[in-house]
Parts: sequence; structure tokens; C-alpha cells
Amino acid sequence: MTSPVLMAVDDDPGGLRTLDDALRRRYDRDYLVIGETSPGTALGRLRELRAAGHPVAVLMAASAMAATPGSEFLAQACSIQPAAKRVLVVPRGGPGAPSLRVPVPLVQDRQAATPVLRAIALGMVDTYLSAPGAGRDEEFHWAVSELLEEWAHDAVPALPAVRIIAHERSARAHELRDTLARNGIPYVFHAAGSADGRSRLQQAGQDGSALPVLVMYTGEVLVDPPNDRIAVAFGLASVPEGTVDVAIVGAGPAGLSAAVYAASEGLSTLLLEREAIGGQAGSSSLIRNYLGFPRGISGASLATRAFEQAWSFGAIPSVARPVSGLQPVRDGFTLRFAGGGEGHARSVLITTGVSYRRLDAPGLDSMLGAGVFYGATASEGGAFSGGHVFIAGGANSAGQAAVNLARYAQQVTIVVRGDSLAARMSQYLIDEITATANIDVRTGTQIAGAEGSGKLEALILKDTSTGDAETVPASALVVLIGAMPHTDWLPSQIGRDERGFVVTGSDLTDGGDPGASWAPPRPPFPLETSLPGVFAAGDVRHGSVKRVASAVGEGSIAATQVTQYLQQQARSS
Ligand SMILES: Cc1cc2nc3c(=O)[nH]c(=O)nc-3n(C[C@H](O)[C@H](O)[C@H](O)COP(=O)(O)OP(=O)(O)OC[C@H]3O[C@@H](n4cnc5c(N)ncnc54)[C@H](O)[C@@H]3O)c2cc1C
Repeated sequence: MTSPVLMAVDDDPGGLRTLDDALRRRYDRDYLVIGETSPGTALGRLRELRAAGHPVAVLMAASAMAATPGSEFLAQACSIQPAAKRVLVVPRGGPGAPSLRVPVPLVQDRQAATPVLRAIALGMVDTYLSAPGAGRDEEFHWAVSELLEEWAHDAVPALPAVRIIAHERSARAHELRDTLARNGIPYVFHAAGSADGRSRLQQAGQDGSALPVLVMYTGEVLVDPPNDRIAVAFGLASVPEGTVDVAIVGAGPAGLSAAVYAASEGLSTLLLEREAIGGQAGSSSLIRNYLGFPRGISGASLATRAFEQAWSFGAIPSVARPVSGLQPVRDGFTLRFAGGGEGHARSVLITTGVSYRRLDAPGLDSMLGAGVFYGATASEGGAFSGGHVFIAGGANSAGQAAVNLARYAQQVTIVVRGDSLAARMSQYLIDEITATANIDVRTGTQIAGAEGSGKLEALILKDTSTGDAETVPASALVVLIGAMPHTDWLPSQIGRDERGFVVTGSDLTDGGDPGASWAPPRPPFPLETSLPGVFAAGDVRHGSVKRVASAVGEGSIAATQVTQYLQQQARSS
């Protein structure tokens, strides 16, 4: 297999030597390290590598180069190698953030740091690093390793756990790829019509009449398997026979955090997830506002780490396990699973989050996964290369998707019904969108239909004030238009507000919400629902702040309240 490239660019030969040496000493065996003193030559080299199908993992450029500033070079390089992580290298002690780890006189001068931070905010670079020292610079290598790990999440894995052979535009294949990517399972896709795909089918003993075919790392061949069959193959489908202390329904940030804290507090913890570990956050290409990750972290990385943490404390994960019913019984609750079977728990935590509203326009549903997507995963950015992508929606998730997809697509158009983005999008994203040449915004417009044979080819856009319709060529539509809570499986004893969000704590007792009531003589715990012993946390909860950090915080608090509830129950029995 071709070694991925680490490229360093600095027009100062001394600076390049230090950077190039530091990279070669650590990464020479697994990566091809290339050093260039000229940004122009480096761009040519990147084009050659692209033509040869050679992956580029990390691109580093000195911030202060005479001919082309490092940020400009990296912005240009992005159109050639969109998957590469782009790093601006600032001089040691230069305009980076003050460091608590390395006692060098790093500049505390925010003004000097502004161009670097601006380049990150505008998406010209992914992050910055201080130039490495001459010796073993562990802080530098720690950051490089993190970048390589993030890159590897989206790249063709060196050690795939699954090979999928399917038609390129198959909706089921799209779903499988999305599910595997979001569960952090490395896979390789082979188009069934390609020579490679045909040879893989033959090796698997398949004639291609039934697709998708999955070849597992064990050699096992699965033909169009349901998701729970794949979960079984990865040991992610167990449900204990007896009664666990707490069953957590939904493994987004709230559920994962609750699983970490409940299991670490010694509770037997069952974590049930219907689709993919990480929830909505798992589909976020870069979460920049989560505490402790100043350079941001992809939702997939965060989810994988949290999942491992929960598992290491003893939480039992059960994926592809949609919960369809909840019933109070003598010693707790019985949970019914959509695919059959049930589980038992002394307490339940609902962390089922929300999902996107569906766009209702003729032709859209038939092209789901074949050009029409709800949400956009980073791993699929490459699929939009060179095309015209439309994004329906005007909130932050739409803004983030636009900025991410603009790295791959030729043109990205955000379509909003309202007359501006300001009502629902953060200003930093609006600034980034304004500064990105290949993103435009069509306000006062709605998607009125989709056309194409087998895949999306055109969209019908309607002016909301005049009613005029226009058909425009489109290679993809990403829909991000708001959220609905996953609560239709809950029994009527669990009070919800008029939009279906679960009511908890003081909202049950202050008479503020007619949809919910609290019967017991004791007050409810702050995250307890109207059904005592059942708690709710994260986006699904009435009044929740829809953020990763808030969901994680609520998950940890809910775990503590569940522990207290179980202690109360034990004392009173
Ligand atoms: C594209 C995108 C980008 C975002 N970027 C950011 C960002 O940069 N910063 C930020 O702070 N926030 C961001 N958010 C918001 C953030 O991801 C959410 O606020 C957060 O994920 C909520 O966590 P949660 O655990 O409450 O719910 P969710 O993440 O929605 O997770 C709920 C989980 O429950 C599962 N589930 C649902 N019903 C059932 C059932 N019946 N049985 C079993 N499982 C079930 C779902 O499959 C899902 O995995 C982003 C959201 C999106 C969509």
C-alpha cells in the first residue's frame, strides 16, 4: 500500500530542516515525508500526488513565508488535497496561544495571534502548531499524532474491519457506510461494477446478484445483513439476562457520558443504541466548542473515545437495538426492543436526542442516499468533490456543513426560507461563509422538488414571495432543517411538552407545563421525569441547551441522580 504523505513547506531552509528532521525521525517508516522550500513547487507536487492517487495526510506550512503566507498556501492546497489536515507552523515563542506545558516565552499578544486565529476561523487551515524544538519535542508529536488519528478516521483505513461491495449509488450502501463510519468501524468500499469489486465478490464466493456484500475482518461473508447482525459480529449486541441498575437509551454525548459516570460509580449499566454511537455529535465534522479541545475534535473521534471509556468502566453496549417500549414493573422497568426481546432495569435514563425534520417536496424521498442526505458526515465529503451541493437550513449545523463541504464541492449553496442567516446562525459561521468564495446563500427560497433518474440531478427552487420556480442542476442536497425529539416510544405516564420534549424536575411541579405532572410525596430529582425512576438528559429534554457539552454535563448529573434514587429505593425496601 502507498505510504501517506506528510509534507512540510518553509522558504527558510533552516526552519524547513528542523521541521523535516522532526517528522522524519518519528514517521519515516509509515509515511512519506516530503520537504519543500517553495510553496509553488509544493502545490505542483501535491497535484502530482493527486494524479498518482497518493494520499496526503498532513500538510504543514510556515506561517511567515515571503512569497505566499502559509495560510494562503494551505488554503490553495485544500482544493488539491481536501482530505489532508492543514497545519500552520508558527515560530517557537511566536504568535500561538500561551502554553502551560512548555516554559518558553510564548507571546501573550493576542494581536499578533489574530491572523493565525483568523485563518482557522475562516477554514483556511485546520490548526496551528509551534515549530518543533531540535530535540524530542513531545508536545509537537502529540499534536501531530492527534492530527494523524483524525485523518485516519476519514481516510481509507490501512486495516479495514469490513469490506463493503455494493453499487455506488445504493441507498442501503450509503446507510451502511454512514453507520460504520459513525460507529468508528474502519471499512473499505468497493464499487460492485469495478474490476476490484468484481474480484472481491468472486473471492467471497458471490455472483453479485444480491448486494451489498460485507466481508468481515474474520473472513465471514454477510449478504445484505440487517444492522443488528453486524453488531453481533463486533460483539456489540449483548443484553444481560437479569436486571441492571440502569438502562440508558441512546448513545449520543448524553448517553455516553451517563454510561461513563454510572459505570464508574459502580452501577451495572446497559447502554442501548438504535443506530450509531455518538448520536448527532458523531456526524459533526469538527466540534470546535467542546472544552479541552482547543484545536477542535471530530464528532467521530469524540464518540469513539467516549465509547471506549464507558466500556472500560464496565458499561455493556448494545448497538442496533432500538427501544420501542417502556413499562413500569414491580422492581423497576421492562424495555421492549423493536427487533424483539426485552431488557430489565431498576432505573432508566432517556437520552434519545432529536433528529432532523424531513423536507416535504416531490421527488426527495425517492433519492434519499442517492444525492439527498439528512446530515452530512465528514467521511463523505469526498463524495461531493467537484459538484454543486445545496444545503437546506439556516442554523449552525447547516453553516458547519457548508464550510466543510466547500472544501470538496465546486459550489455550495445554502437555501433558507427566511430573509437572512442571522436569525439562527452564529456570527462566526456567517463570517466564515461570507469569506468562502465558493459558498453562496439564497434567502427567501424553498426547495420545491427534486429531479433525476436514480440519482439527484436537479432541484426546483421556489421564491417564497413571488412563487416563481426555477430548476437548477444539483449533485447533492443536504437537509438540516431542525429537530424532533425521539419520544414517540414512551408511555403516556412520561410527560412531554407540546413539541414532544420530555419534561423533568421542577418543570413537573411548578405547574408550568400542562403536559406533565408529578404524583409522589417526595420532590422529583432535577432530571427525573413524571414517571419516578425514569430520568432524561440531553437534547431530548424540555428546556435543554442543544450542545455537546450540555448533553455531556447533563448525562453525568443524571448518573449521579440515578445513583441517589437507587440508594433511596434500597433504603425504603
Ligand atoms: C451536524 C451537527 C453538528 C453539530 N455541531 C455541534 C458543535 O460543533 N458543537 C456543539 O456543541 N453541538 C453541536 N451539535 C449539536 C450536538 O451534536 C447535540 O446537541 C448533541 O449531540 C446532543 O446529544 P444527545 O446525547 O442529547 O442526543 P443525540 O446526539 O441526538 O443522541 C441520541 C441518540 O439516541 C439514539 N436513539 C434515539 N431513539 C432511540 C431509541 N428508541 N432506542 C435506542 N436509541 C435511540 C439515537 O440514535 C442517537 O444516537 C451538532 C449537531 C449536528 C447534527
